[in-house]
Amino acid sequence: MHPPLLSPAPKIVNLNLRQGSYLPTAVRASVFGLLYVLGAELGHFLSFPDHFATFWPPSGIYLIALLLTERRLWPVVVLVAMCANLTSDIMFHGQQLWVSLGFWMTNSAEALFGAWLMHRFVSNSFTLTSLKEVIHLTSLAAVISSALGAVFGATVISLAFQNVDFGTTWRIWCVSDVLGVIIFAPFTTTLISLGGPASGERQHSRFGEATFVFSLLIMLSQFVLGNQIHPYAFLIYPMLIWIALQFEMGTLSLANLVLTFIAIWNTKQGRGPFVGDDSIADQVLLLQSFLSVSAASSMVLAAVVAERRRTTEAVQENEDRYRDLLENINDLVHSVSPEGQILYANRAWRLAIGYQEQDLKQLSIFELIHPHEHSTYRDKHRRILSGERVDHWESRLVTKSGQIIIVEGSCNCRIENGKAVATRSIFRDITKRREHERELESSRKQLVEANSRLLLLATTDSLTSLQNRRGFESRMVEEVERAQRYDSSLSLLMLDIDHFKQFNDTFGHPAGDEILKRVSAILEQTVRASDFVSRFGGEEFAIILPNADEATATLLAERLREAIYREHWKDRRITASIGVATLTAGFPIGDDCNDGTMLLKAADEALYFSKQKGRNRSHHAKALRHIEV
Ligand code: GH3
Ligand code: MG
Ligand code: MG
Repeated sequence: MHPPLLSPAPKIVNLNLRQGSYLPTAVRASVFGLLYVLGAELGHFLSFPDHFATFWPPSGIYLIALLLTERRLWPVVVLVAMCANLTSDIMFHGQQLWVSLGFWMTNSAEALFGAWLMHRFVSNSFTLTSLKEVIHLTSLAAVISSALGAVFGATVISLAFQNVDFGTTWRIWCVSDVLGVIIFAPFTTTLISLGGPASGERQHSRFGEATFVFSLLIMLSQFVLGNQIHPYAFLIYPMLIWIALQFEMGTLSLANLVLTFIAIWNTKQGRGPFVGDDSIADQVLLLQSFLSVSAASSMVLAAVVAERRRTTEAVQENEDRYRDLLENINDLVHSVSPEGQILYANRAWRLAIGYQEQDLKQLSIFELIHPHEHSTYRDKHRRILSGERVDHWESRLVTKSGQIIIVEGSCNCRIENGKAVATRSIFRDITKRREHERELESSRKQLVEANSRLLLLATTDSLTSLQNRRGFESRMVEEVERAQRYDSSLSLLMLDIDHFKQFNDTFGHPAGDEILKRVSAILEQTVRASDFVSRFGGEEFAIILPNADEATATLLAERLREAIYREHWKDRRITASIGVATLTAGFPIGDDCNDGTMLLKAADEALYFSKQKGRNRSHHAKALRHIEV
């Protein structure tokens, strides 16, 4: 199984003693030697008179010792196996040296070949916790290597003893080694792991159940396998299935060992379902087959259960991690059913809307969406459920306390078995951002207003409320441009009150101010709406006349002069002199000369001419100097 993202390494007891061994080599070698001798004694104890072992534990112990040892130390393992083999055969069972050496070589070849196969096809790190390892152990290391080893074993026996049938001997040797491997390999593995860094807590916590099931197994096995009248060996299977489902591989291999012991012991005593009219060899084969099938199939079941348990734990752990991640991010994550029911809302979301986790079950999304947005929401919800993704979705929500918050984010739909089951969204609370934006916009508007007020003040004359010289100049630039763009005429009037100094001197400055205001009013009343009257400075006024040719401008100048002259003045009659200039249509656009300046200069000269000619009169610049302005 591929480990899921964010999940930690599966919690398994790694028995790979080749990397970071926790027992010194000498101790491990001694333990192996001792186990080998004890296993051999158990094998001898359970063998039938005049027959060879029915069940050979050293084959499993030897294989595991190799699998758990670095390859460079394999000669040590083989040497220890030789000592153990000779000790058991010669010292305890009076075997000839060469026969014992033959057995040792056969056992070694078998174990080395099995270990090599496991390395080749499983992995370098042997843990016996996966289905793949169990299947390879039972097929490659147990069946194939035992079948080959049995050829050597049967040959040695045929050479050493009289009246031996090679085929039968090969068969018994082969199955006894298979049984030895599939029961003793996991058993030895578990024994070693008990002293390892992580002894099984699960097993300790279920000690009561284990004691009960083992007592039941022993009683049932003894009853079923120790009585001729009840040939129901298969009744043991439910017990093995129970142990395989509830406990780990080590406990199961202990159960298989107990079962093997009881089965062989009873058969040896002439009791049980395997005893019959057949030859001892056939009885042994039947017994071995029963035990091998029980052990192998229960081990496969235990491995499947262990793998499933690990997968479930990993999935759960992964789910916990994702939930933890979702619960702790600041984004608002939630999921809504097609009917609008809230299925999930993370902590940030719950905090934002002010509801508790338990409230959410009865909550519909429509209780949260602002009433003005219900129809928009319905429409989007429908589109999302039909597979569309909605990004940059801004929506207003009503919190439990009635506050309105603004959220923005994206939403798409979760599809299971081709059917839309929920919408899921990630939003962000942008209420504060929107408030800041609103504040910023209002400040910007205030600034624009203040600027235009400032501009008005800067271009308005406070006494007459007319535009001042600055206002005149910018308007002049615009009007000259317009006249040139549309090829139209533009005239300018410069008007100056006559002998104003004298008036001031005679009637006082405030009276002079009143005159200025009155003259301004007359000018404004007399010109067209499109004309532009400004106070150029002092008692001098500039009047721009767009689209006015020479004749029109001259006429208007006379009307203005006349209007001032005819006004009923309180203290003394007031008159004004006027200079007129015109930019005629078709006037070429100047290269480096400023047309506005030229027009002003011409009008000013015309005004000067009017003054010279006696005041209270108007003159056009053309009439003055015959210049084509
Ligand atoms: P001319 O006919 O040659 O134009 O003679 P004038 O006296 O009108 O011209 P001058 O340039 O000698 O004098 C302009 C006077 O306008 C001087 C100043 O006292 C007066 N004046 C300028 N600005 C104001 C103002 O804002 N208020 C008042 N009351 N008088 C002003
Ligand atoms: Mg003047
Ligand atoms: Mg004057």
